[in-house]
Amino acid sequence: MVLAQQTDYVDFTFCKAFVKFDTVEKSVSGIVRHKFVMLKDVDSVFVDAQKMDITNPVELLDFENSETYKIAYRNDGSKIWLKYGFKAGKQYEVIINYKVIPGKALYFVGWDNEAPNQIWTQGQGKYTSNWLPSFDDMNEKVAFSLTIRFNNEYEVISNGKKVFETETVDGKADHVFMMEKPMSSYLVALAIGKYDKQVETSASGIPLEMYYYPEDSLKVEPTYRYTKQMFDFLEQEIGVPYPWQNYKQVPVHDFLYAGMENTSLTIFSDAFVTDSIGFNDKNYVNVNAHELAHQWFGDMVTETSGTHHWLQEGFATYYALLAERAVFGDKYYYWRLYEYAQELLDQDNRGAGTALLNPKSSSVTFYKKGAWLLHMLREKIGDFAFRQAVRNYLIAHQFQNVSSEDFIREVKNVSDVEVDGFFEKWLESPVFPYNEVMASLEQSKFIQEYLMADCEANNAKCDYYLEAPLSDQAKSKIISQVPERITSDVFMDGLKVRQAIAKHVSKIPDSLKTQYESLLKDDSYVTIEAALYNLWSNFPNDRIRYLDKTKGIIGFQDRNVRLLWLVLALSTPDYEQNNKQAYFDELIGYTAPDYGFEVRMGAFSYLQALNLFPEAALANLVNATNHYNWQFRSFARDLVGALSNDERYADILEKLKNS
Ligand SMILES: [Zn+2]
Repeated sequence: MVLAQQTDYVDFTFCKAFVKFDTVEKSVSGIVRHKFVMLKDVDSVFVDAQKMDITNPVELLDFENSETYKIAYRNDGSKIWLKYGFKAGKQYEVIINYKVIPGKALYFVGWDNEAPNQIWTQGQGKYTSNWLPSFDDMNEKVAFSLTIRFNNEYEVISNGKKVFETETVDGKADHVFMMEKPMSSYLVALAIGKYDKQVETSASGIPLEMYYYPEDSLKVEPTYRYTKQMFDFLEQEIGVPYPWQNYKQVPVHDFLYAGMENTSLTIFSDAFVTDSIGFNDKNYVNVNAHELAHQWFGDMVTETSGTHHWLQEGFATYYALLAERAVFGDKYYYWRLYEYAQELLDQDNRGAGTALLNPKSSSVTFYKKGAWLLHMLREKIGDFAFRQAVRNYLIAHQFQNVSSEDFIREVKNVSDVEVDGFFEKWLESPVFPYNEVMASLEQSKFIQEYLMADCEANNAKCDYYLEAPLSDQAKSKIISQVPERITSDVFMDGLKVRQAIAKHVSKIPDSLKTQYESLLKDDSYVTIEAALYNLWSNFPNDRIRYLDKTKGIIGFQDRNVRLLWLVLALSTPDYEQNNKQAYFDELIGYTAPDYGFEVRMGAFSYLQALNLFPEAALANLVNATNHYNWQFRSFARDLVGALSNDERYADILEKLKNS
């Protein structure tokens, strides 16, 4: 028996929704109106809605007679079933009033602590139907128009174009957003918080809105660097105009992933907000390009099912690399491909290789093997045919759903090169064709040099390599292999080579002390953190000087330098005796929910290293075991487990868990 899917007998076309929030109760209430056309006669259709209270009788507008009826419905906790004699070819609209405290997919952040007050959503993998009655099936594409009521001191951002804002009543205004084209429900999004924005316009006239926290105005340029350039590049390269009315990017606090490509509204982790020093090591460029590429690959054409997930992640990863190549050059491009190949090789060596068409594959497979497939395909069929195939594929299926076959068909339409064997190997085999991809990479002189320069054997050639004008990557590799052989000349190299010294040269010869100290002034928080630790460890008599030199440096958003500095200051007995308590309190403070989870994880780890957990930190740790971010939650649970074995903490933890 084949169960019919709902999309076989009904087509939902337009959704008009009104939502408002209670930030104390952390609830959403709303009214959603779904318009739909029947393809067959049936007596019930459903809308996905998780654990919602229906607060008014469900109504149905029958367009045939323009009458509105209260209709029978059943709310089974995951779907609302509408009972009516629906007739093929007829159009209807259902009106549902609801209220819900979402278990996931919509998050209230900071309303109970000092973190920035925000509300934001994450639909993919979580289901938008947790806060908005909608469709879990990606094949149901609907044009959404959201009206959001909120306190007018906050910025309200959603999919599509903001067409209207009402007068403020009781401090609140209604923000009306409108979309022109349909999309899957998992791409519905909103972000509410205190933001300013900068707006640029793409070469094609699309407004690019870049949001930031008001206190971060100096970080806007480095955070969003190359945004317009990459946008213009991708429109050109893909050959299909950007499909939506505008493009917005919004950083949020304690986000679940790096970024999410909601249609016309990318939400990303504020850990990527950076100053120009942080930019050198950890910037938003790759995530920026990746989520932007998804606006075509994922949002405009959407996989029919998880089997074809590489059509989203493989394409987004590949096109992000192309956009970065346009900014950073060929070496960057080949280097990233090389890194991806090593990760895929590792995966295979662990016996964990997976096929691209396996819906349960790892992200490494979907993202990186998918990107490699496209790089190799382009080599095989040539630039012209490749771009033609991608363009035809996007245009033929725009605002619809796609499978791998749809893409392969377009490749065959434009190229006479035999590709059946190619796709079979790349899509169906769990093995990553490592030798083949390395043969392709070795066309790059830069990669050749990297592979050739090798000091595993630690011979006389290593001194030559350390002096030679090699690429940063090749020289860093040599430094990691023979850190004891470096000379003062190596310090003359650039930022990344000097960073390799800080990371790998942990025993500092007296003869290099002065050069090594100069690393503390580099424009890199990675270098400063590693150099500070190594200098402090190697030269106990100079600890106070090193601490004074680095006192005001915070580091990345996760405060990497400041946390280390506090720990070293506390571990240096004769340093600022009078401030010891204040430094310890500051470190404990970073474990609180007021800070991002990356800061908190760092602070907890250092307390563990210091073997010192006061009750306030233990309370914050127990609180973290219920955090919505699974990565942080499991970190906290593991640490509670470890500390419970320590008799100093066992009773306190037990008491805290029970309260
Ligand atoms: Zn992605």
